[in-house]
Amino acid sequence: MLKQKQISHSRIIFMQSENSWRLIKKSILEKKLDYSSFEYNGTVVDQKSYDFFKINKGINKTITLVNELGEFENIKLKWAREKTSPVMRMFWKSNFTSMLKKHFPNWKALEPNQETQSNYSLLFIKSTEEDKYEFKLREDYNSEEDRFKNWTRNSSIGSKKGLSERSINGYLTALSQISSYLAERNYIQFSLFEVRSVDYAKKCFKIFFSDKGNADKDIKGHGFWKAAANNFTKFLESDLSSPINKKLYSSTFDHDDLMNKVSELMKNYLSNRPDGNGKPKRKSQNTNIYERDPKVVAWVLQNANGICQGCKKTAPFMRSKDGMPYLEVHHVKQLKDGGSDRIDNAVALCPNCHRKAHYGKEKSKFQKILKLQAMKNII
Ligand SMILES: [Zn+2]
Ligand SMILES: [Zn+2]
Repeated sequence: MLKQKQISHSRIIFMQSENSWRLIKKSILEKKLDYSSFEYNGTVVDQKSYDFFKINKGINKTITLVNELGEFENIKLKWAREKTSPVMRMFWKSNFTSMLKKHFPNWKALEPNQETQSNYSLLFIKSTEEDKYEFKLREDYNSEEDRFKNWTRNSSIGSKKGLSERSINGYLTALSQISSYLAERNYIQFSLFEVRSVDYAKKCFKIFFSDKGNADKDIKGHGFWKAAANNFTKFLESDLSSPINKKLYSSTFDHDDLMNKVSELMKNYLSNRPDGNGKPKRKSQNTNIYERDPKVVAWVLQNANGICQGCKKTAPFMRSKDGMPYLEVHHVKQLKDGGSDRIDNAVALCPNCHRKAHYGKEKSKFQKILKLQAMKNII
């Protein structure tokens, strides 16, 4: 029984390790840590990484990992027999696992069977000594990668909605190849996903494609690198926190201006949650009016996806302006009562439910339901 269990564990390790290795540049190799890395003191080494560790089939070796956290000796690279064919496994000692667990305290939240990897990376960096590697632990930029994935999955730009997972993974591979080229020449540190500026990304792609070798290969590969580069640039441009978008889609008192901005925003999938305003500015005309953030409206409508958050029915009609489902964005705690213009205080309602929210008999009961709906905007 126990033996059976061990076999299935090793299969999990094998499955998850397939795409979790990537050569960032000649001297840096990345391993995305998955649940099994934390649970089983080691991992399967991907075939593409054999060159990096200078290993050949059938030969075992021992390496040392070192950094400011300590020196970890006797990490074994060993051939292990699997059902189908032998694989190279890396075995580290439990003190290395403890160090990993301490560094990534949220590792327990990883799913044992998850095929996609975590945002936790172990980087191996070649040193001057043979079989001794410096290592680094990182976790940030990969979440940008997830954001990009999500964005390509949902964005309608450039291609029909619902890009296949295969194409998305193709883009990621392309971006990681471009990243390697740029990292090798020190334009970036590890990955294009560190780059937050549209201008700098454009500059990077210009450098990459001005290399004739790359440009030629791209043509042969049906322009996949170019397509990935274009999508990545668009992804950065859709980032609401970028200075240009902050200005373009700033809050406004004017209702028409607000709705125009919302229409513009809704053409793209928003890749990050808007901050909104805790205390929207008030301007007094005859009555008080409050400024509204178009990004908040667009985000809430995007989340609602044409379904009223009050009655769960589809929007009653399409808006003439842009053909989008007509829903109204309502503040659960009204602005005049000191409510915020934030996504966790806003819901998309059909006109009926909107009236109900303002004038309905069981207003406060309805308000509680709507508050719960509004909270879903920040999940
Ligand atoms: Zn409704
Ligand atoms: Zn309202």
